[in-house]
Amino acid sequence: MQKTEIKKPELLAPAGDLEKLKIVINYGADAVYLGGESFGLRAKAKNFTPEEMAEGISYAHAHGVKVYVTCNIFAHNYDLKDMEAYFKSLYDMKADAVLIADPGVFYIAKKAAPGLSIHISTQANNTNYMSANFWKELGAERIVAARELSLVEIGDMVKNADIEVEAFVHGAMCISYSGRCLLSAYFTGRDANRGACTHPCRWKYYITEATREGELLPVSEDERGTYIFNSKDLCMIEHIPELVKSGIRSFKIEGRIKTAYYGAVTVKAYREAIDDYFKDPGLYESKKPYYLEELKKASYRGFTTGFYFGRPDSESQIYENSAYIKNYDFIGLVKEYDSKTGIALIEQRNKFSVGDEVEFLCAGGENFKQKIDEIIDIEGGLRESAPHAQELIKIKTAKAVKCMDIMRRKAAL
Ligand code: SF4
Repeated sequence: MQKTEIKKPELLAPAGDLEKLKIVINYGADAVYLGGESFGLRAKAKNFTPEEMAEGISYAHAHGVKVYVTCNIFAHNYDLKDMEAYFKSLYDMKADAVLIADPGVFYIAKKAAPGLSIHISTQANNTNYMSANFWKELGAERIVAARELSLVEIGDMVKNADIEVEAFVHGAMCISYSGRCLLSAYFTGRDANRGACTHPCRWKYYITEATREGELLPVSEDERGTYIFNSKDLCMIEHIPELVKSGIRSFKIEGRIKTAYYGAVTVKAYREAIDDYFKDPGLYESKKPYYLEELKKASYRGFTTGFYFGRPDSESQIYENSAYIKNYDFIGLVKEYDSKTGIALIEQRNKFSVGDEVEFLCAGGENFKQKIDEIIDIEGGLRESAPHAQELIKIKTAKAVKCMDIMRRKAAL
């Protein structure tokens, strides 16, 4: 079935906890995905208690934002206990969908909560349109394309499958098949397929590839070895038109265990890029360097377009180290703003001092820079710095800010 109508895609952001959920919504996410305390694939994320989940869902719905709950482990028999009750509770909380990879888990969800929408996780390795149609016939409403597909393949899937297609557009990549990987279980006993990946693909290895003729992988950078499995991060912000034209319904940002600041920066950049493109493609083209610079203000490992335009090559990896590039520090979160006095109440996140040059990351508006002239504590006293974690202080801002805007500062090199 051919589909020609071009709709604005959904911008789908990670929400590792309640604060991150509120922040990415503030910066323009159309939908968020999150995990409960069980069955999701990010054991290291804080994840949501049932009470937090209910609060997160009602907060999101009050802001017109959808919530998808990850239940995408590959379940063992002992995981199945309590799953039925869990799906019923998600249905009662009005979750907009659950993300599932395992057919057994799918079966339980369908029986326990027939009204609950199901999206098929990228973990299910949806690499062709017949798989998509298979899941559709079983009652799924969306599939997340495997990360190993090119843009042409995803476009073909959209054209030939009668189901919504979601795809990752930004964030960390696995060297293996979308997380179906045994490295972590092999080295540490912690299974990536059950949410406990220890990221051994980022570790350093002594390895020599000697059998692939013509492919020279640099494996001897220094005495510490090499990071041959260490992929750069996916970044498709310079290719919004191609993504939109392919018919991908939902643009997904990876990163439930990344910081709230990371969520804010990436969501704001993609929000602006998508909106600019739909308003005026020329405007989008002219702002590409700006979007990219903005994304580089959150931590990243270098950027690649992954599999979208062909097979990743040696340029898609980082061989020197596994560290993130971090250009900016998150130093404060705006809690309140008084438009009469121009003073903002700020929750400290990293030490800052009078005289620091800072920048405000403004949701839905233009960022601005200023110098901090004065720091006022809650009792009204003047301070030279704000060294205490999450302390509330006040500063006068050069322009109006809003609750949940972020104050950042260039990181010291
Ligand atoms: S070890 Fe790396 S490639 Fe394997 S699942 Fe974890 S992040 Fe992905």
